[in-house]
Amino acid sequence: MRVGMGFDIHPFSDDPGRPLVLGGVQVPGAPGLAGHSDADVVAHAVADALLGAAGQGDLGGHFPDDDPAWARADSLVLLGRVVDVVAAAGWRPVNVDCSVVLEAPRLAPHREAMQDRLSAQVGADVTVKATRAEGLGALGRGEGVACWAVALVERG
Ligand SMILES: [Zn+2]
Repeated sequence: MRVGMGFDIHPFSDDPGRPLVLGGVQVPGAPGLAGHSDADVVAHAVADALLGAAGQGDLGGHFPDDDPAWARADSLVLLGRVVDVVAAAGWRPVNVDCSVVLEAPRLAPHREAMQDRLSAQVGADVTVKATRAEGLGALGRGEGVACWAVALVERG
């Protein structure tokens, strides 16, 4: 077995028409995050944790953010590709746990849907927790969203 960790952070976008997508779920009540793809910070952290666990580099290496193919991409699709990379390297996800840090909106009403979508894509249990930065720093000022993830994989 091996473990991997992933971290990602995105600022909120200035574009009011951009949806906020976290863990593959559209979350109302806040602008979307800025980024090349759909900027799903949770899916990106999960993907990096899995790649790290399997010793397969990082998300940016597999899906460069200057590649137009991934502009506004659905990050759950990217996550599915990452699971394929992990499997091709001979590893199977056991579980992934995430901590999302944001001031608002509240994630509790969306947590189960996020876990369901992520778990279906990864093929293993993905759990999501949310916490606030208690007013500290850029996250505490509500300027963006960060996510940490830890993944466990076993020989497939
Ligand atoms: Zn990202």
